[in-house]
Amino acid sequence: MLSIADALESILASIPTLGAERVSLDDALGRALAAPVFARHDAPPFDASAMDGWAVRTVDLAGASDAAPSTLEANGESRAGGEWPAPITPRTAMRIFTGAPVPEGADAVVMQEDVDAQGSLVRFRRAPPRGAHIRSRGEDLAVGAEILALGARVGAGEIALLASQGVTSVDVLRAPRVAVLVNGDELRDPGEPARAGTIFDSNGPTIAAAVREAGGVAIRIPRAPDELEALTTRVREGLLADALVVCGGVSVGDHDLVHLALAAAGVEARFWKVAMKPGKPLTFGLAGTTPVFGLPGNPVSAWVTFELFVRPALRRMMGDPRPFRRVIEVELGHAHRRSTGRIELARARLEWRDGRAIASIGGKQGSGSTQSIANVDALLILPAEIGTFEPGARVPAMLLREGSDASPFA
Ligand code: AMP
Ligand code: MG
Repeated sequence: MLSIADALESILASIPTLGAERVSLDDALGRALAAPVFARHDAPPFDASAMDGWAVRTVDLAGASDAAPSTLEANGESRAGGEWPAPITPRTAMRIFTGAPVPEGADAVVMQEDVDAQGSLVRFRRAPPRGAHIRSRGEDLAVGAEILALGARVGAGEIALLASQGVTSVDVLRAPRVAVLVNGDELRDPGEPARAGTIFDSNGPTIAAAVREAGGVAIRIPRAPDELEALTTRVREGLLADALVVCGGVSVGDHDLVHLALAAAGVEARFWKVAMKPGKPLTFGLAGTTPVFGLPGNPVSAWVTFELFVRPALRRMMGDPRPFRRVIEVELGHAHRRSTGRIELARARLEWRDGRAIASIGGKQGSGSTQSIANVDALLILPAEIGTFEPGARVPAMLLREGSDASPFA
């Protein structure tokens, strides 16, 4: 049986990157750039004052000191967004405000706190250095400079940079459209007449949510029965998407028909099973370049295998250079016993104490218990050969949720 590492490697090696699409700056949030972006304008676009004060010519203030202040005549004003200022006249100081253009001929700004202004006379007690409190044109960015690289993830900071350049749309990698197909005669949706022996379909909504959480677009394919022809038809429908996730029917029961349906629809299987708990039956294949995942039907297995295999694949398709969940070392808050033989992903809650993460594994770890996947912060990675964990044991934990209840400044 394949290890998790080998299965993941096999999946990621065959994941295509999607093409580009142009989206508005608003819609670019969270996406990866499909092309580098270059500066279209110098930033700042003109020499601008960094202070409220006075624009001056340093030659007019050479030698100014407490003992021998220099006095200039106030002449004119430059304010942010105001009329473009006239060139500065020798032996005068121009009133200027933060963000306003520095008048031609001026080469320093003196903070207003450092001068005595009385009537039309302004007295300076220091000789400012050239360039003081001036943000010069192009000092942040020059036209043509690469401001964001190919593959950059767009967050609020990147939007700031793009917006400051007047950019209104960017090319990003397309978000994958992911078909989600559940199957099983025992499933029903709310509102459907109840029949003895049926249960609500929880995987459909779960996997669709997980797809969206990963940044993809979920497309729900109508549920398929345990019947080969109908299932194959649904699989074919799903293959029109960028990726297909089939959930349920992948193990070896008489009514597990997914393998047959995938084969009938032209999916070339790569592997059937992965050595892990929960989730042993797990299929991956390709229809052309379209990745197809067959997840186990047990809700816990479905969700865990999605997290482990499908999520990084979708992130990779979207060009994310960091497609994996973060793993940190945590301390077990209690003793834990389990049967050895398979690597286990145990659902755990984390509590943060003095910067340490203390994990508790929920009591109900059965693979059918949707209770065990709600309110989970991390998947603890328990090695195959270890069955006994003492309180305080250190284990790696895949973080499913960022965020902490402790203020970093407390
Ligand atoms: P299967 O993988 O089809 O053999 O299903 C394994 C278990 O998961 C069975 O108990 C199914 O009833 C259950 N199951 C399968 N699909 C779903 C689903 N979409 N929602 C909830 N439970 C499911
Ligand atoms: Mg089934």
